[in-house]
Amino acid sequence: AENSSAGLELAGLSRRFGGVYANRDISFRVAPGELRGVIGPNGAGKSTLFGLISGHVRAQEGVIRLDGQRIDRLPPHRRARRGVAIVFQGARLFPGMTVLENVAVGAHARTRSGALDAAVRSPRHRREEREIRADAEEALARVGLADWAGRGAEQLPLGQQRRLQVARALTARPRVLLLDEPASGLRADERDDLRGLIRELHDDGTTILLIEHDVAMVTALADRIAVLDLGRLIADGTPEEIRRDPAVIAAYLGS
Ligand code: ADP
Ligand code: MG
Repeated sequence: AENSSAGLELAGLSRRFGGVYANRDISFRVAPGELRGVIGPNGAGKSTLFGLISGHVRAQEGVIRLDGQRIDRLPPHRRARRGVAIVFQGARLFPGMTVLENVAVGAHARTRSGALDAAVRSPRHRREEREIRADAEEALARVGLADWAGRGAEQLPLGQQRRLQVARALTARPRVLLLDEPASGLRADERDDLRGLIRELHDDGTTILLIEHDVAMVTALADRIAVLDLGRLIADGTPEEIRRDPAVIAAYLGS
């Protein structure tokens, strides 16, 4: 049976910076397994919306539910444990670390042993280290970077670096994966590769929210698209509905 509370529900989210609304009364729902595009001109409030979902930005109004449970009062690390994973816009690697180590940093977010366990290298700590390594290797394989595990992360071409960021997010076994402009700055062939990876993750049933500047890419991938302009949700529908929506056309022509 269809569970209407499953997935991600945003209800009446608002966030002001100074007197200006970065997000104003944003409401929509993302179904489990859906790939939801989020588009809008620069400054529309897209990254702020992701921050509200991940917890890195506090909502001043509104409610966020994941599979029926409120998460909007939880700090970011607890939302991460509930399955909210984010690849930030312009996310940086840890230089001086290998590809595998960069991904393992993400896997650490799920562990339970503390600093004392680590200091005394308790059995629990060692078991978790093995699990982290296995999770990181699995995530690297999933994004096609298994052969790069031992390389210095900064040696990777930019397209592979973005895959690494996605792998790091996947170690959290996300119920919702937030990708903020993952294709920005990539060459055309690298964008195509990344588009293929995102499509594979979608085919595997991962629920994805994708902010992307390239409207053609979003249109090709998304089940539905939410359009923000000046902090407001001005349209929400299938790619075909969005393409012919007068408010969307006006927002893009006006920018
Ligand atoms: P987008 O990702 O769509 O380009 P943002 O969410 O980054 O838009 O920004 C939306 C608006 O909120 C912009 O006007 C931006 O200047 C403002 N803003 C975002 N973050 C902050 C912040 N931490 N402090 C002040 N203003 C912010
Ligand atoms: Mg942004």
